[in-house]
Amino acid sequence: MAVVGVYSTAQIKKGQIALTSLNDLKSRLHDNVVLGSVDSLIGWDQQCYMPTGGASGRAEQMALLSRLKHEWLTAPETERLLTAAERESVDLSPHSDDAAYLRVARRDFELATKVPTELVSEIASTSALAHEEWVKARANNDFAHFAPWLEKNVDLARRLADYLGHGGERYDALVDQYEQGATADSVRKVFETLKPELVSLVRAITERGKAVDASPLRRDFDESAQLAFGEGVIRKFGFDFTRGRQDRAVHPFCTTISHGDVRITTRFERNFLSPALFGTMHETGHALYEQGVKAEFDGNILFGGTSLGIHESQSRLWENLVGRSMPFWERFYPDLLSAFPGVLDDVALPDFYRAINKVEPTLIRVEADEVTYNLHILLRFEIEIELLEGRLSVKDAPEAWNAKMQEYLGLTPPTNSAGILQDVHWSGGMIGYFPTYTIGNVVSVQLYEKANEDLGGNIPDQIRAGEFGPLLQWLRTNIHGYGRKYPPKELLQQATGRGIDAQPYLAYLRNKFGSVYELD
Ligand code: ZN
Repeated sequence: MAVVGVYSTAQIKKGQIALTSLNDLKSRLHDNVVLGSVDSLIGWDQQCYMPTGGASGRAEQMALLSRLKHEWLTAPETERLLTAAERESVDLSPHSDDAAYLRVARRDFELATKVPTELVSEIASTSALAHEEWVKARANNDFAHFAPWLEKNVDLARRLADYLGHGGERYDALVDQYEQGATADSVRKVFETLKPELVSLVRAITERGKAVDASPLRRDFDESAQLAFGEGVIRKFGFDFTRGRQDRAVHPFCTTISHGDVRITTRFERNFLSPALFGTMHETGHALYEQGVKAEFDGNILFGGTSLGIHESQSRLWENLVGRSMPFWERFYPDLLSAFPGVLDDVALPDFYRAINKVEPTLIRVEADEVTYNLHILLRFEIEIELLEGRLSVKDAPEAWNAKMQEYLGLTPPTNSAGILQDVHWSGGMIGYFPTYTIGNVVSVQLYEKANEDLGGNIPDQIRAGEFGPLLQWLRTNIHGYGRKYPPKELLQQATGRGIDAQPYLAYLRNKFGSVYELD
């Protein structure tokens, strides 16, 4: 009988156990990680600095890199080394980094090989074309123009799900690509808890909440002062500029080239303070995760975030739990006033705090506040499932969208551009992606509360003193450092002692917005 789990990584490093195939596998997959980092770098350049004339050349470079990565990962040599490494590693402790390495390598390999190359390239080329047509359809408010492409993408998603494998519900296979272990049912459960409470909280706020004036956020804010203020804040959060940088881009994002090179981008609006300010905090939340993965994982498949939901929990935590909190502004509001001389002098701190936390049903997801945001996601999740299962036809989808919008947010989009055509995801074939935003919101509160409990309830006072080190260190120890070592469910369980739970998030919203809107 084999003894399982007796060797530690340290024993292996000391050479007490030789894992030749594992080492060969690591060096083989290291090349793939490097290809991926080149891909990230040229993707960053494309969005930040590339002249428009570079588009077709860049598309070729990116297509070649994707093909090389896929071929390298799915090659018989990878499988041979993977199988040999698994065989020689049966006695590894399941908690060792090497055992985790093999689990992650196996999952990456299986996901890549389950899908035939022809389908991979059909998905890639269809999304590229569908994206172009979606841009036109959205500009011209012409859903009929995009409909055949959406139909193709839904069909490709069905085929993809069938290749990936599922127990009857195709959505399970799709969401699992972004959030390992999540299923349509687990997402449904979260929404069943959220939906009635969110709908009634939005109603209470709109019907009897004290009015909030957010117009001060729309004054004239010098762009270089916005950049300087935001940079000052994220330095305090712990963003390491010797291992990262910040640039301007139309769509804010965070990308990782390597452990020593994590980049964020920001969009500035001269007459609106919020996009750059909270966008910078948001992307920094993603960046702190990547900068916090332990250095030994650099160049290794364990480097990076474990799932999109956990990643989003980090961005939301810094943007909302920290950046939209009263303790934060008690410390930083005087700095903000001096960064923009004369602009906000007539706005008292409590009014500024209420302005940045204004709740208002809107048609557009990316502009949504903390309370209404998840209703936008719920609507998309429900429509995706109906489309995938063939219970809703693409041609009827705009009507279904508008009906749900009315039901959840009391609004009817005047155009499809402000409705079903607003998001990029479905043009790129990303079906099953949206729930990770809600998972991130829910988990952000679970993690923040556990950190605060472990730190003696002192985080609000530390934030009020401009001290973010203890919170960041807690996240480093419990989340960031592990990279992809643990799947999201396991990581959350280990960090908080619980699975995903929407109740703390709801309590946080009721408490915060009950006080912002003086609801009692
Ligand atoms: Zn994000």
